[in-house]
Amino acid sequence: MEKLYEGKAKIIYPTDDPQILLAEFKDDATAFNAQKRGTIAQKGIMNARISAALFQLLEQQGIATHYIDQPGDGQMRVKAVQIVPLEIIVRNVAAGSLCRQTGLEKGTVLPFPLVEFYYKNDELGDPLLTRDRVLILNLASLNQLEQLQTKALGINTQLKTFFADCGITLVDFKLEFGLDQEQNLLLADEISPDTCRLWDQQETDPNARVMDKDRFREDLGNVETAYQQVQTRILSQLETLSL
Ligand code: UDP
Repeated sequence: MEKLYEGKAKIIYPTDDPQILLAEFKDDATAFNAQKRGTIAQKGIMNARISAALFQLLEQQGIATHYIDQPGDGQMRVKAVQIVPLEIIVRNVAAGSLCRQTGLEKGTVLPFPLVEFYYKNDELGDPLLTRDRVLILNLASLNQLEQLQTKALGINTQLKTFFADCGITLVDFKLEFGLDQEQNLLLADEISPDTCRLWDQQETDPNARVMDKDRFREDLGNVETAYQQVQTRILSQLETLSL
């Protein structure tokens, strides 16, 4: 089948229905704006399953997503949307670029969830934006920005609680949204250990607790095992919620 688009972690194919696309999740892993490359065995299958589970959970809580179903391993059928070129990052605990840019100590619990907008633009290295930069660049309207902020905070509330019930701290994560034909903002892309920082609450050691792509970024080892562990905990927690 002819590819519509190939990104760093997924390939998008058209389907017979122009309103529906097929996303195939890849095992390829990149970090530091694709300067570091590798593969994580079974990642495509695991991330598709994890994302599908989390999208279903969020849909149950009344959050509109692009998710339709999973036709096969590593695959997801999604509603065709026009992706808003913003990476929306929500943080509960300081880590990564927040520590590098502000000097906050890694692990500091933030007094309230921090929502940040980054420009989804590889050439520019995904820079941090301000509200007025978003408006000047015409990346979203003021009304859409407010909706994105509200949706991101609502998603954080749901996911933080869900992950805590899995014994995992949701440190931070990245969201992308898209507009459907009626201009509704739908949660799109993926939510997986590639796009979240997840810390095992049973571990106190700062390396041992990492259950996400930082294991790959920082060469901590046991990347596949960590992703598997996230998948197992999420799926068994969803079963107890009978979802
Ligand atoms: N993130 C992502 N894609 C990006 C940038 C960040 O999924 O292009 C996720 C990342 O995995 C983390 C969160 O967003 O869970 C915050 O990332 P941060 O800004 O701290 O960037 P980093 O330290 O990875 O450069």
